[in-house]
Amino acid sequence: MTHPASPAEPSFIPLAVPNIGLAEIAATQAAVASGFVSSVGPEVEAFEQRFAQTVGATHAVACASGTAALHVALRLVGVGAGDEVLCSDFTFIGSANPIAYLGAVPVFVDSEAASWNLDPELVVRELDRRAAAGERQPAAIEAVHILGQPARLDALLDAAERHGVPVVEDAAESLGAGWSSGALAGRATGTAGRIGCFSFNGNKIATTGGGGMIVTDDAALAERARHLTTQAKAPGVGYLHDEVGYNYRLTNVAAALGNAQLGRLPEFIAAKLAIARRYEAAFGELPVGLPPRLPGAESSYWLYSILARDAAERDLLLDHLQQRRIGARALWRPLSAQPPFAGARRLVRGGSGGSADEAAAGDSVAASLFERGVSLPSSTELSEADQARVIDAVLGFYARG
Ligand SMILES: *Cc1c(COP(=O)(O)O)cnc(C)c1O
Repeated sequence: MTHPASPAEPSFIPLAVPNIGLAEIAATQAAVASGFVSSVGPEVEAFEQRFAQTVGATHAVACASGTAALHVALRLVGVGAGDEVLCSDFTFIGSANPIAYLGAVPVFVDSEAASWNLDPELVVRELDRRAAAGERQPAAIEAVHILGQPARLDALLDAAERHGVPVVEDAAESLGAGWSSGALAGRATGTAGRIGCFSFNGNKIATTGGGGMIVTDDAALAERARHLTTQAKAPGVGYLHDEVGYNYRLTNVAAALGNAQLGRLPEFIAAKLAIARRYEAAFGELPVGLPPRLPGAESSYWLYSILARDAAERDLLLDHLQQRRIGARALWRPLSAQPPFAGARRLVRGGSGGSADEAAAGDSVAASLFERGVSLPSSTELSEADQARVIDAVLGFYARG
């Protein structure tokens, strides 16, 4: 709900805000009134079932956050202290913190320009190289579907299978996205690897306030996920906890909100696509990079983002939009350039494979996306008038020359 703007001061257009309607308010109210407010209750089970159905997975286990879901997922596929995990370099830090929680070490994989996601050839080459050299394989590959764009996983999954490396998908930003051709045709992101993880943070495509989901077709993994997220408490009256678990279950109230949001998912995805088509049509003649459109990959356009020609132009564009009360934002700094992961190994095309310290900044696709990227307002409730304001502002910026 936006306030009417006076001509003198246009209203602020946020980057991405949750779309909460009467159904959500009624559902959360009913959950609170039921007395089942904590992590036991009928809404959690209903949310899990509905979510599994939505993405086409056999099992779904609700979690306190997307980060928690990834933490448990990586542990479930066997990641432990001292292990290496191949992970996208260009992503939000929530993708990689769980690797560190487990005492494991990330090896950051550069993006491919075609999808902005991890470069499958770099991964395949690395697995083959390790096998040929008799080196230990990574304990897992974490593939992120950034900004709603599905990663190219066909060849990566084949190589992972060949070398016995499990694949965990970080689908936190890609609910509603999937593949329409190739080996994964008809599948949703998050259901291609051994485990997929989603987020219901406030700015994600559907929200529970805060929350996440683990999906898998493996019944034993789902059972273990449920166990680990509830303090690893064994069934029965004996208060036996058979390993170190986590308090990571989603609450019943949050699940009620999630259930109501899932009911509106088709509406949300249609809105994201409509915004993307409108921006795309308007920006076709500009000297900017547009989001990837790979054949067979159906993006959900979680946050529509464009690429300026360089970092200086990006800064000017962000300023220009901010002055017009338009909430735009830069894309993520590569994780290999974040202090907690300083010195992490990277896989970069043409790179030495050395540490990030050795390599000059700006030598990777990930660095270029960070330096040039600008996310534009993409709320599902963004009105056509506000879309026009964003478009006019971007066109105006480039018209100034
Ligand atoms: C949001 C996000 C996460 C973390 O999810 P939370 O629910 O905020 O913990 C992880 N990875 C990516 C790519 C995300 O965008």
